[in-house]
Amino acid sequence: MDAEEILRLDREHVWHPYTAVPSGVPVHAVRGAEGVRLTLADGRELVDGMSSWWAAIHGYRHPRLDQAVRDQLGSMAHVMFGGLTHEPAVRLARTLAGMTGLGRVFLADSGSVAVEVAIKMALQHAAATGRPGRSRLLTVRGGYHGDTFGAMSVCDPVNGMHHLFSGVLPGHVFAPLPPGGYGFRPGTLPESPDAAYLAELSALVAAHAGELAAIIVEPVVQGAGGMRFYHPAYLRRLRELADEHGVLLIADEIATGFGRTGEMFGCDHAGIRPDIMCVGKALTGGYMTLAATLCTEEVADGIGVLMHGPTYMGNPLAAAVANASLDVLAERPWREEVKRIEAGLAEGLAPAAGLPAVRDVRVLGAIGVIEMTEPVDVARVQHAVMEHGVWLRPFGRLIYTMPPYACEPADVERITGAMVAAASL
Ligand code: PLP
Repeated sequence: MDAEEILRLDREHVWHPYTAVPSGVPVHAVRGAEGVRLTLADGRELVDGMSSWWAAIHGYRHPRLDQAVRDQLGSMAHVMFGGLTHEPAVRLARTLAGMTGLGRVFLADSGSVAVEVAIKMALQHAAATGRPGRSRLLTVRGGYHGDTFGAMSVCDPVNGMHHLFSGVLPGHVFAPLPPGGYGFRPGTLPESPDAAYLAELSALVAAHAGELAAIIVEPVVQGAGGMRFYHPAYLRRLRELADEHGVLLIADEIATGFGRTGEMFGCDHAGIRPDIMCVGKALTGGYMTLAATLCTEEVADGIGVLMHGPTYMGNPLAAAVANASLDVLAERPWREEVKRIEAGLAEGLAPAAGLPAVRDVRVLGAIGVIEMTEPVDVARVQHAVMEHGVWLRPFGRLIYTMPPYACEPADVERITGAMVAAASL
């Protein structure tokens, strides 16, 4: 098919993420992707500033990951996981357990499902430990945990989808937005934690402790809920409060996991271990949908039968490529790469801080954000960055990037140049 036919069929039959039918925003046909570049069907090459929504940390068509899929195809693409097991899944579980200190691994088929499983674990754990009245969750405003119903119920109640499904979503407890300021902001020093906010968290958890099964947060970086970075001291306090009140702590590391923030996991900024952790996105290096919910042996023992079991659970192809991706991550100097990208983003985005339509510029690890004062015109911004040879997908007031770790300094410079140009429109 040529580009025109692909786009015609797309217009006729396809629904894209978070869009109406027909979509008001242009869609571009992509022919291939290699390294950190996407090739559009019309031949244009773009540096990928999105890592396909945090996932493609090693870039595209990585030889080791390609080979892992081919090798796995030679034995089996899939078998059911009920009553059967296989090497790719047990290898992956062993590696994840070793990386996190959480010994029990439930393989799920997407990030949202991993969050559903985490919530089920917490609710079942409360019931199994003789506290069935503890059926609510506590989270902070500004979060994003996925699009399924359990996950939606802990997304930000204002910019999430609560207003569309208000009669259906359970009412959880929301702490105020964590104060920002962690990471790099031009012209400012790193903020110290806000004592009043710490006290507010403590009071809120204490007030609701008797009805809480778990606290769930994205550690240090709130992603799709607003690309905000908060001080690790708030996460540390939540860990303390969870222990104090016998509540489980769920860390949603689906976006932050595997080095993106400069540490292997967001929780590492705070030096804490959650009781339950969700990972996904970069788990397969962006090759296939796979996620995992991990928990301590203590939580697992308390639950008994966990009532979940997706058809494609433990999919061997996905597990095999996840194993290859984690091997590549262990071998590549990701810490130095992310640090270099962080420095490049900080330097390249600094000029945006002085622009009249810009509210804030912030960088943490391989994440760079320009927050505008008003919502951006997505089509216009996208057109502008594509003119600079870059692929980005802005949303709300945010023009942001989380490039593959394989980006060279010149690629990062191109991305930041495009972002500053788009913020200057
Ligand atoms: N949790 C977080 C923190 C996320 O960023 C996302 C996806 O953006 C999800 C959960 C949902 O993951 P998925 O889109 O794979 O369902």
